[in-house]
Amino acid sequence: MSILSRVGRSLAPVLLGAAIVTAAPANAEVNVVTSIKPLELLVRAVAPEDVQVTTLVPPGSSPHNYTLRPSQRGALENADLVFWVGPDMETFLIRLLSAEEFQGRTIALSGEEIAEGEHQEEHGHGHDHGHGHDHGESEDPHLWVDPMLALEMAHDIAEALAEQEDADQNAIRQNLAAFEASLTAREASIREQLAPAREIDIFAYHSALVRFTEHYELELAGVLTLNPELSPGARHVAEVQDKLRAAAHPCLLTEPQFNRQWWRSITEGLNVTFSTWDPLAMDIPATETGYLDFQQSIADAILQCLPEDTQH
Ligand SMILES: [Zn+2]
Ligand SMILES: [Zn+2]
Repeated sequence: MSILSRVGRSLAPVLLGAAIVTAAPANAEVNVVTSIKPLELLVRAVAPEDVQVTTLVPPGSSPHNYTLRPSQRGALENADLVFWVGPDMETFLIRLLSAEEFQGRTIALSGEEIAEGEHQEEHGHGHDHGHGHDHGESEDPHLWVDPMLALEMAHDIAEALAEQEDADQNAIRQNLAAFEASLTAREASIREQLAPAREIDIFAYHSALVRFTEHYELELAGVLTLNPELSPGARHVAEVQDKLRAAAHPCLLTEPQFNRQWWRSITEGLNVTFSTWDPLAMDIPATETGYLDFQQSIADAILQCLPEDTQH
């Protein structure tokens, strides 16, 4: 496959004359824009190597309160395909992606369309993927942390890539099959690794961890802030502090995107173990195994909290 594409590229100048006759140039580069890094990892898992991927939300930023830089408009305008989770997640893209010029090349991987005017509308999308729990139960928009929802996203990405002109259909199909096999195996291995973590009470900074804990049947005892864009109200903080106090082995999973001082101060004097995970996978290399590494990194962050692994 890689040999074929290399041959194809070296022949390109020779064939240029012929290409003028057939309207579309062979080997036209496919430019993909993804809103957040985990979607880039899914594209890398299924896309042929020559597909270019640009991610909008940079390290250190959160999609919940991001503002698109003017310089990023160009990448969006030149994109053959734009993948985002959807209007419940990347609110900063709603207005831009509603524009007519993005119709037909923008794919919301949640399956949610931009609703005219009302974006806070309730979305009921119950679909059971036959892997033990119904994903329709939860309304949480951080879909990509659930490995089976991510697999579904990879299917949608593969389908969109395969529809591009001159797409390498075989490579995409093979990559998707390989990804499905390796993700299924990794999911089973992580499920086994996480079994002892059912004994601890996990607290998360915001709801990004919900679908991961649901998928692997772990106890998410509390979420510090219901809306990561705002500081939580005093009553919610007091409730979480009570839960932390009552918990057996409370483990607080913090995130690099959000203020450290704030959660340090609300856990002052409580016996809490801290661990950090990154729902945006910023330190994970964007390779074809990146999504598997991302899943493992979440599991590892939780395993850091197990009493025998903590340094007291
Ligand atoms: Zn979030
Ligand atoms: Zn699941």
